[in-house]
Amino acid sequence: MSKLLAVGTVAFDAIETPFGKTDKILGGSGTFVGLAASQFGVKTGIVSVVGGDFPKAYLEMMNAKGINTDGVEIVKDGKTFFWSGRYHNDMNSRDTLITELNVLEHFKPVVPKNFKDAEVVMLGNLHPLTQASVLDQMEVKPKLVVLDTMNFWMDIALNDLHQVMKRIDVITINDEEARQLSGEYSLVNAAKKIHDMGPKYVVIKKGEHGALLFNEENMFYAPALPLAEVFDPTGAGDTFAGGFCGFLAKTEDVSFENMKNAIIYGSNLASFCVEKFGTQRMEELTREEVTERLHAFKQLTQFDIEIE
Ligand code: AMP
Repeated sequence: MSKLLAVGTVAFDAIETPFGKTDKILGGSGTFVGLAASQFGVKTGIVSVVGGDFPKAYLEMMNAKGINTDGVEIVKDGKTFFWSGRYHNDMNSRDTLITELNVLEHFKPVVPKNFKDAEVVMLGNLHPLTQASVLDQMEVKPKLVVLDTMNFWMDIALNDLHQVMKRIDVITINDEEARQLSGEYSLVNAAKKIHDMGPKYVVIKKGEHGALLFNEENMFYAPALPLAEVFDPTGAGDTFAGGFCGFLAKTEDVSFENMKNAIIYGSNLASFCVEKFGTQRMEELTREEVTERLHAFKQLTQFDIEIE
């Protein structure tokens, strides 16, 4: 079993969907990655920053799930990163209403000593320079570096993003962002161009339409589990990435074949995340529920066809 180090935001989110609206609740890319990875029982550490306004109870909840938060700096007189978004009726697209970087603006990540040899590193959605700084601090070269990003960072730090992309193995990115980054509409062509920017593996997330994995000439597609109710898609992408990394850290096998399973595990966990607002569903999720749904997933995609 490998160690997993994840850097990302630990945040307050305020979310509006056609089903309702929340005040400031727990969110952040690092939080969702950590909660997903905790399902695999791998030793997971989060590197992030919060302000003095961040409830201790949230960190305690993560610790109780085995997530190490020694790398979460608390800036006593600072304010926690705040993001607010509104989902459209299709629940697949959203508008960012507010991004207040707050303590993130001057954040210098510090990787705890006992995670400087983590075999799997997840560079969650953050400024590319912050992501690079985490890699700089690793004392042992990780077996696998996965990076997630979003349009916000492409808009304000594209050159830095290109630099850090040269140092990673896998990028996870959503379809619109893949198009923005590559300038290509076709996702097959977009993946090729992104591949040329550095990462050997390109994972394109398509929300309710599943995810694609590209590696040179190889391609794999996993659907998302069709759900009767999608309540709040926030964090689904990070949950997917956390599940993907958690599974690879647990199995210690970073081959294309095993990444296919990692995609299924990631998609499976993401299907829970969207069932309630914020982190709520991931906090209460049990192993039994995960296993049961994996069976449903298998059922959904299995067919036996005779090709003459
Ligand atoms: P996802 O729905 O997986 O794309 O992730 C949503 C999470 O990302 C929310 O919980 C936000 O707190 C966090 N987030 C939103 N904008 C940013 C940003 N610019 N950088 C890092 N994290 C962000």
